[in-house]
Amino acid sequence: MKKVVLKILGILMVVIMVLQTMSIAATQSELKNQKNENEKKMNEAQSQLDDVKEEKAGVQEEINDLDSQIVDYQSQINELDGKITDLNTQIEEAQKKLEEAQKQYDENQKLAEERLVIMQESGDTSYLDFILSSDSVTDMISSYYLASELAEADTELLDGLEKEKQEVETAKQELESSKQELANSKESKQSVTAQLEVAKKEKNNQVAQLSEDEKKIQEQIDELTEANKSIDVKIQQAIAAANAQANKNNSSSKPSGGSSSSGTSTGGGSVSSSGFIYPVPSGYQRITTGLYYSSGAYHGAVDFGSGGINGQPIYAVASGTVIISERLNGSYGNYIIIMHDNGLFTLYAHGQDGSRTVSAGDRVSQGQQIMRVGSTGNSTGPHLHFEVRTSPGKYNNRVDPRKYLP
Ligand SMILES: [Zn+2]
Repeated sequence: MKKVVLKILGILMVVIMVLQTMSIAATQSELKNQKNENEKKMNEAQSQLDDVKEEKAGVQEEINDLDSQIVDYQSQINELDGKITDLNTQIEEAQKKLEEAQKQYDENQKLAEERLVIMQESGDTSYLDFILSSDSVTDMISSYYLASELAEADTELLDGLEKEKQEVETAKQELESSKQELANSKESKQSVTAQLEVAKKEKNNQVAQLSEDEKKIQEQIDELTEANKSIDVKIQQAIAAANAQANKNNSSSKPSGGSSSSGTSTGGGSVSSSGFIYPVPSGYQRITTGLYYSSGAYHGAVDFGSGGINGQPIYAVASGTVIISERLNGSYGNYIIIMHDNGLFTLYAHGQDGSRTVSAGDRVSQGQQIMRVGSTGNSTGPHLHFEVRTSPGKYNNRVDPRKYLP
């Protein structure tokens, strides 16, 4: 009874150890997946960030463009302002001249009118007297001309003034119309400037928005970087735990050493005392990794990894029934487990995709091709990972395959 309890306890311990190993491995690959996922997100965010920065630089350039246009318009407006001020001065001067001309015109006209009034007041007689008092007809005629010349001179003066007044008036009109033109031009430039200012404001808002986006994306990247740091720590912890577990397994399953194999291992055809043949063709039967890795860690299998082995057939080492034929990502890749009639189980891993020719439940005969050598799952290069188990469980009861091979 006590023996049975101990046996159960032993089995339980083994099961717990296996479960621990499995859960550590699962956690580790889960963490790595999470880290990869985060790195993918980071790359996406980084490329988004680059886009945003590029767009922002583009908008900034547009703003600089608008700015230089605004400055240009502003300087044109200032120039127009200067010209308008000049014109205003000229208009004022013209106005003054016009007023002077008007004043002079009025004065001269008054003088001429007064002279006319005097002439008229002196009556026909005096005008006549003036002419008749002439000594001779010649005198009379010249006196007459004198009088008319006087009148004519007045008229000419007035005409001259009138003309000058007209000219000044015209000049003033012209100045006024140039001033209006400049004012109109100034107004349109001001309205363009206002539009440019509005556009600039919009662009500035865009830049602010982009800066905000930039900040957010950068925050995301920073967060992901932080998350990956903590994942790295967890992975390190998981690796340490896995190593501790492996060491424990090593000390609890000491290799019995020695080889009970018979046969000359000259070809896949020779059969060992256990009734097994090699799972790979002759020429590829060199074992490149044994039950323990060179690091001392437990391997629990042998690897056939000779050069050129990729794509070579994998044979069932003995007849039996296929109990598993499937693909596991991240560990065995394509693998097959066969239950043999002598109670042993063999496992063949990392086969090429699409090369499995048997399914669970199939009966296989010794030497039957079941898969081809590949590098699927957790594998660094083409090789066959071959296990011999005394029970079908995933890791427990693995024994040194060399003891069973020819
Ligand atoms: Zn292996």
